[in-house]
Amino acid sequence: MARIAEEWFAICGGCEVTILDIGEPLLDLLPQLEFVHMPVIMDHKYYGQTGEKDKIEIPEADIGLISGGVRNEEHKEIALEMRAKCKTLVALGTCAGYGGIPALGNMYLTDDIYEKVYRQSETTDSGDTPSSGIPPLTDRVYAISEVVPVDIVLPGCPTTPELVVAGLTALLGGAPLKLSEKSVCDECPTIREKKAVSTLKRPLENIESVGKPLDQVRCIMEQGYLCQGPATRAGCGGAEGTPRCIRAYMPCRGCFGPIRDKANPMVDMMGALSSIGLDPKQIPDRPATFNRFAGAQGRLRPLPRR
Ligand code: SF4
Ligand code: SF4
Ligand code: SF4
Repeated sequence: MARIAEEWFAICGGCEVTILDIGEPLLDLLPQLEFVHMPVIMDHKYYGQTGEKDKIEIPEADIGLISGGVRNEEHKEIALEMRAKCKTLVALGTCAGYGGIPALGNMYLTDDIYEKVYRQSETTDSGDTPSSGIPPLTDRVYAISEVVPVDIVLPGCPTTPELVVAGLTALLGGAPLKLSEKSVCDECPTIREKKAVSTLKRPLENIESVGKPLDQVRCIMEQGYLCQGPATRAGCGGAEGTPRCIRAYMPCRGCFGPIRDKANPMVDMMGALSSIGLDPKQIPDRPATFNRFAGAQGRLRPLPRR
């Protein structure tokens, strides 16, 4: 029986829904798991059941899962406690692994974010930045591995039920889990002709050949749509192989994060676009677009003030 502790930081909750989406294989795993901490389903108090403790405390566990990046000082404290109490720590989903969508905020200084949200937003009455009873924001969004050592990253926004099962099964059996170091393109069955394209199309225009078998469809990027398959880690297709968005005749948005931990998706995408004659300058917000899911670990920084 493995004791599991799960935490969620700067997230949307989608990665927790993925755990439910596992479906029947979860019934096979459950007899081997004992959930000792999971705020999404359990009313576990951080400071003891009656608030008697003076520091955050999480029960000891064999496997710790954290979804979401670190966005405030409380997240940081909980991450340190999770690392201290969990034998193995798993970053669940791309927010935890690479910052995810919340790390787009890393393009702005925290004071500018407060200013925008509390004083410049047209839909909010202007007021002071709240400071009482809530933890202060950190200076930026951090991937979990920037705060504490992480043993495994299960990427994806959300991560996939198959990957969660593979990760838990590997951990329960004491085997390592190795992520693919291929790109989404390597698992994409569409036809690449390396023919030049001159303009990028809007993402909502219909792609050619929707409904045809994918091995008869021309590469979506070579049709002129921005597809981030060349710069994105493979694996979202699970046992079937074909990447999830490509199966739906949609371009890859890059949600599995960089192909390797130190890779730079912006450099990889500039190269891929140039190789088929597309000028990357057609994309006005290149840093945010190419690092949409991977803005932590220094990939996105505040823009110089104008
Ligand atoms: S990785 Fe995506 S689905 Fe998971 S918590 Fe972050 S935003 Fe939500
Ligand atoms: S660019 Fe997109 S559509 Fe083309 S091969 Fe790569 S993943 Fe497939
Ligand atoms: S195709 Fe790309 S965006 Fe879609 S699920 Fe796979 S990695 Fe994520």
